[in-house]
Amino acid sequence: MREKIADIYERLVQRNKEIDEDFLNKLYPDAKDFIGKKLYVCRSSFRNPSNELEEWIITDVSIIQKNTRNGYIFMPHSKKITKKFIESVEAYIEMYENLPLDTFDVFFSIESSDKYGKTSSGLRYVVGSGFTDKNVSLDPKDFEEKIKADKEEYEKYYKPREGCVACERCGKQVPIENVVKYKLIYQSWDSRYGRQVVNRIGQFCSGDCALNEQMSLEG
Ligand SMILES: [Zn+2]
Repeated sequence: MREKIADIYERLVQRNKEIDEDFLNKLYPDAKDFIGKKLYVCRSSFRNPSNELEEWIITDVSIIQKNTRNGYIFMPHSKKITKKFIESVEAYIEMYENLPLDTFDVFFSIESSDKYGKTSSGLRYVVGSGFTDKNVSLDPKDFEEKIKADKEEYEKYYKPREGCVACERCGKQVPIENVVKYKLIYQSWDSRYGRQVVNRIGQFCSGDCALNEQMSLEG
């Protein structure tokens, strides 16, 4: 009996999923073991050190194509399942399953919940080098050193001090007598007054910070 065209399509979609599973197993055989485990995000910075880590739960692990110059490869899409469309999907599958393994990274789906509800997100994981976002880890201890260094840096340079002001650019505390005053000129846009030229004096730790601020305001 001839297979119905819709069934053929369904089979191809299933096949595509199996290929993805296959790639994941080859790329990171133990990846699925992470499902249900906690993942930690550190938002500490030397300007704002903090011991608090965000806790997320890993809900799924899959694969994601690397962002290459050639762009992403997608399965053909159509509202109508015709014979011709099926042929294009078959051609795609044949090409897709032969892609080299290094076309892909691992993708962690994560979820967190607070009093406002659930938030979903995802993270790219490169086998051999870890999460592309370096503020993320499976082990909260990984951040201990960073938070310690942030606190030291904060105490040394950024903590508000008597007789000092914070540089507008880098946030470092500068003794009032050493402040570099610089006239900033830039355009701003306001819904009430429209485009305006702003002209004001900024306070900086150095001429470099003043110039960098002026340049960033010019866009
Ligand atoms: Zn500065």
